[in-house]
Amino acid sequence: MSRRNEIPPRSGTAFRLNEGQTLIVTDPKGEQVADLLAFNAGDVREVISGGRSLDYASKLFLTTGDPLYSNRSNIMLDIISDDCGRHDFLLTPCSKDTFRIIYGDEDPHRGCFGNLAAALEPYGIEEDMIPTAFNVFMNVQVNGDTGELRVDPPLSKAGDSIALKARMDLIIGLTACSALQSNGGSFKPIEWEIVG
Ligand SMILES: [Zn+2]
Repeated sequence: MSRRNEIPPRSGTAFRLNEGQTLIVTDPKGEQVADLLAFNAGDVREVISGGRSLDYASKLFLTTGDPLYSNRSNIMLDIISDDCGRHDFLLTPCSKDTFRIIYGDEDPHRGCFGNLAAALEPYGIEEDMIPTAFNVFMNVQVNGDTGELRVDPPLSKAGDSIALKARMDLIIGLTACSALQSNGGSFKPIEWEIVG
């Protein structure tokens, strides 16, 4: 199966990805982030874990050849190709609280968090079960001395993709991110397809 799907700007979706299949996430216009979540399809209490993935890789920036682990230390996905080479696994999905606290919005958008919660609800996944996402194409610069974080425009160019191969049957949540600062100041779509 291979069919290109589009996530419109500031929205999200969820779908099943079976063991052995590959998910390809593409930034069609450039400088657009996609938050990616993964849950074990057989037990959604098992969920992607930035803490474990960064711990076992002993680095902050994951790319081709790096596995993404669950909270139970099982490999959920392997990154098998990566045109961009810069993604974030530190920051939580943007949310209405993100926009209230960081941007001072009085009537904030529900953000990736709200979009993920709505898309994952039919799979029995509740808001409090949503962890830090693997933030595809997000460019977070870290000052190695002070630990200060700075969110810069993504380094992804139009057409850049990342491919992730499933190591178990998964429910995937995926967004076109809603935070201006993370996306170079404008909201674009994200494309995805399943191969295999
Ligand atoms: Zn977002």
